[in-house]
Amino acid sequence: MSPLALVRKTDDVESTHEDAAEAGFDLPRIERAVREILFAVGENPDRDGLRDTPRRVARAYAELLGGLRQDAETHLRRVFEHRSDRDDLVLVRDIEFSSMCEHHLLPFYGTVDVAYLPDKGQVVGLSKIARTVDVFAKRPQLQERLTADIADAIAGHLQARGVAVVVRAEHLCLRMRGASKRGADMVTTGFRGEFDRNRALRSEALSLLRPHGGA
Ligand SMILES: [Zn+2]
Repeated sequence: MSPLALVRKTDDVESTHEDAAEAGFDLPRIERAVREILFAVGENPDRDGLRDTPRRVARAYAELLGGLRQDAETHLRRVFEHRSDRDDLVLVRDIEFSSMCEHHLLPFYGTVDVAYLPDKGQVVGLSKIARTVDVFAKRPQLQERLTADIADAIAGHLQARGVAVVVRAEHLCLRMRGASKRGADMVTTGFRGEFDRNRALRSEALSLLRPHGGA
């Protein structure tokens, strides 16, 4: 690695620390807690391989749980008018996410599909939907609540006439603990507005959001 790259890397680390502090994460406290866990399981936190682990975990948590200090509205308030006589369905599929199960603090991850019916041509950029997913995924979370949070945010901030959200995820707390067979996914759905009221519209959305591509 060149000296320049090394300097850059150090800068990155410092700014991560500052960002984390600004965002309200108490990194030293996380570090102490991780050290305690290592003691509690009978490890030696001062051995070579573990010496930097508390610091690494603290930084990782600040990143993985960064959504706690974010508001989806910042991403969804910049709507743009899509001039059209009709408010046709907008579909965004296969938004990848990873989150932390709040029961075990282990990851669950998968994809989010979103369908919404705009009101008066009010739509939002594709990347904003993905950012919204991240705001809610980067916190201690439950898949059911993640689904509901995304649906509520899009229904509320976009004032969409209808929102359908499908989340498919694999939970490491199930797989790693042997409670689930390989490939066991959990699927959750959330419907708001017209998708909640109109069954025909709901099944149309679900057929469009069906898994595709693979087997
Ligand atoms: Zn869990």
